Amino acid sequence: MLYQNSLAYATQQDSEDSLSHLRNRFHIPKDKNGNDWLYFTGNSLGLQPKSTNEYINQELEDWANLGVEGHFEAKNPWLNYHELLTDKMAKIVGAKPNEVVVMNTLTTNLHLLMVSFYRPTKEKFKIVIESDAFPSDRYAVESQLKFHGFSEDDVIEWKPRNHEQLLRIEDLKTIVAENGDEIALLLIGGVNYYTGQFLDLKKIAEIGHSKNCIVGIDLAHGAGNIKPNLHDSGVDFAAWCTYKYLNAGPGSLAGIFVHEKHAKNKELPRFAGWWNHNKATRFNMRQPFDVMEGAEGWQLSNPPILSMAAIKASLDLFDTIGMDLLRDKSKKLTGYFEFLITEINSKNIKIITPSNPKERGCQLSIQVKNADKSLHEKLTKNNIITDWRDPNVIRCAPVPLYNSFQDVYQMVSVLKDLLQNE
Ligand SMILES: *Cc1c(COP(=O)(O)O)cnc(C)c1O
Repeated sequence: MLYQNSLAYATQQDSEDSLSHLRNRFHIPKDKNGNDWLYFTGNSLGLQPKSTNEYINQELEDWANLGVEGHFEAKNPWLNYHELLTDKMAKIVGAKPNEVVVMNTLTTNLHLLMVSFYRPTKEKFKIVIESDAFPSDRYAVESQLKFHGFSEDDVIEWKPRNHEQLLRIEDLKTIVAENGDEIALLLIGGVNYYTGQFLDLKKIAEIGHSKNCIVGIDLAHGAGNIKPNLHDSGVDFAAWCTYKYLNAGPGSLAGIFVHEKHAKNKELPRFAGWWNHNKATRFNMRQPFDVMEGAEGWQLSNPPILSMAAIKASLDLFDTIGMDLLRDKSKKLTGYFEFLITEINSKNIKIITPSNPKERGCQLSIQVKNADKSLHEKLTKNNIITDWRDPNVIRCAPVPLYNSFQDVYQMVSVLKDLLQNE
């Protein structure tokens, strides 16, 4: 038996890891001397699969050679290109194919979904979000309230208790029990960007629905990280980006989920464009609007194929492995990371992410005493890429696709030196 807190143990874990070869399928950024960075920010911008180049080049070539005919004649015809992404994306988030589509960007999608699913009345109009929601989500929600003639004070915050960092589901229950008649919508980050807490989506849906509130989930930090089982959870809608754990490149297109129970509801108010109009008559041009069923019925425009090509490269890779294996490795990798950090036994840092693997994805959020940002800067100087989030957290995400047990071991041994030399 090897001592777990050793490079030899980490190396052995890598050699026993059936997914370790996948690291080679990514470009790992390097420092000026050609040494790999230890990259822990796949939660912010996932690394580039080596295959992405080829996928994008295919579309550039088809465009060069075929012009407009590429819509029909390209190797992957552009007209229905998004359909090539749907099944694989649906598997990643645990949805049925007709519940998912790739379109637009995340915040845009949250607004389009709120057009349909935030239908306030004079009595029932408030929106519940986490007190530490990602700023874009908060701005989106506040602007929806104002757009409908309400005010930002009509946001109800689901907060951690005093002296706690994490959200408790029973507190959401209380909020909804006490204010449910006034609440129209719950819009919750399924995995919180700051603490890394993975919330129980099924319970959130049950709590919301018990008082006829619509339940929407932002899965930006969940898609490709945890298994959200969106269909079974029963949430009404969800949206996520593809540039974090889904490795589809900066600003790439986003995904939406609309639960099957809403698929055929053509009465839902929504914004329209030619891309949510019936495919069969889309190009007849002079037809009255006839909305498509399912998530596709929220698209507006013909989509940017170059971005979709990058998404396809990534989803094809995810599909060869599957979320089950990725999640198994992720639990081990983050568990090892947590173990090593705990062994440092420093009073200057504390992990605020839940310790239960069911309540987190791969990210650990390390709270730094006295908000000492210099620790993060020193890590960066040592080629360890993490991120700092005010007020006092270093976020680190060992990603099972391309991070290794050795990455984690090396990161923590530098961290330990930095803490001991203070
Ligand atoms: C990353 C992230 C965003 C970013 O929104 P964009 O529209 O893609 O710029 C929004 N919300 C959450 C929860 C995020 O994690």
